[in-house]
Amino acid sequence: MNAFEYAAPTTKEQAVGLLADRWGDAEVLAGGTDLLSLMKDYLPTPKRVVNIKDIKELQGIKYSSATGLRLGALATIEELLSNAAVKKEYPALAQAAEGVSSPQIRNAGTIGGDLCQRPRCWYFRSGLGYFPKDDGGKDLIPTGQNEYHAILGNSGPAYFVHPSSLAPALIALDAKARIFGSAGWREVRVEEFFVTPNNDGDRETVLKSNEILGEIILPPAKGIRSATYEVRQKEALDWPLAAAAVALKMSGNTVQSARVVLGHVAPVPWRSQAAEQALGGKAIDENTASEAGSAAVNGARPLSKNGYKVQLARVAAKRALLQAAQGGA
Ligand SMILES: Cc1cc2nc3c(=O)[nH]c(=O)nc-3n(C[C@H](O)[C@H](O)[C@H](O)COP(=O)(O)OP(=O)(O)OC[C@H]3O[C@@H](n4cnc5c(N)ncnc54)[C@H](O)[C@@H]3O)c2cc1C
Repeated sequence: MNAFEYAAPTTKEQAVGLLADRWGDAEVLAGGTDLLSLMKDYLPTPKRVVNIKDIKELQGIKYSSATGLRLGALATIEELLSNAAVKKEYPALAQAAEGVSSPQIRNAGTIGGDLCQRPRCWYFRSGLGYFPKDDGGKDLIPTGQNEYHAILGNSGPAYFVHPSSLAPALIALDAKARIFGSAGWREVRVEEFFVTPNNDGDRETVLKSNEILGEIILPPAKGIRSATYEVRQKEALDWPLAAAAVALKMSGNTVQSARVVLGHVAPVPWRSQAAEQALGGKAIDENTASEAGSAAVNGARPLSKNGYKVQLARVAAKRALLQAAQGGA
């Protein structure tokens, strides 16, 4: 790892003042579970690392039935899991956190870090950037080692999948991200927080290089039924192959409105309006959940080695819907 200057501010104002006007010069450090391994591989090589863990204002989780849930960006995945209100009111989020199966990662990894973690694409992690090409300038991923790459949103130029397990649940639950920069706070829906990069100098979120993700706000659950279903190759220490998070507003037994979000299938968490529309006014049973699952993967365009992910995503959406309809637990 290259030598770097280390700063440990105690306020968010100091932190953004220590960040740089362009990506790469300075990096934010939270739990370090992703950043440090990236830096050991010289991706990135910041001149300054800004440790934000001592900023008290960005810590903690608070719930009120009137205003909803506030997640400090520095709250850990373990804090999320051990919060009784999260488990009861927002099961999709608790189930997504449960999937992060390593106690070490849960204890050190923060919610902000989970949302800002960098792609796990092995080309990217090998230093080839988002858009690796062969000597003739042809994209390597569509016919290369693409078992874990995108099946949706992959018409180019990016083919990686967004690695966050929490993001689909937060989007299904209509959460907002509060971002702090030199001009103060700004707010975006978590759905709009993620972007597909078009250049190697871009990042995967709307954050600017001198901004930090400060907190996430979820509206009161008010009887919304939610669930996350993940398909994983193994129980331990790995990211899901595909996942779905859903939130249902019911009127009696029928769906009044639905939000269906797939994870680990596209460069951004993938909201499927086709699946949501397929559910409107219907009761959820095996058939309707199956139809919505199929609608969720409408337009999937598998690469040479990841066709199996279409079925996994379809089934994840179906099972998340059945689980949510039963109350989410
Ligand atoms: C073996 C293993 C298995 C894993 N499995 C899963 C899984 O199944 N699902 C899943 O979702 N994740 C998984 N993870 C990823 C893990 O959840 C993340 O590494 C962790 O949440 C990152 O949090 P952190 O606080 O350590 O972030 P850091 O490593 O400190 O930072 C990660 C990135 O986010 C940026 N950053 C962090 N906080 C902020 C902020 N507040 N504002 C702006 N930028 C910020 C940093 O600059 C850096 O680029 C796994 C990780 C490992 C090592």
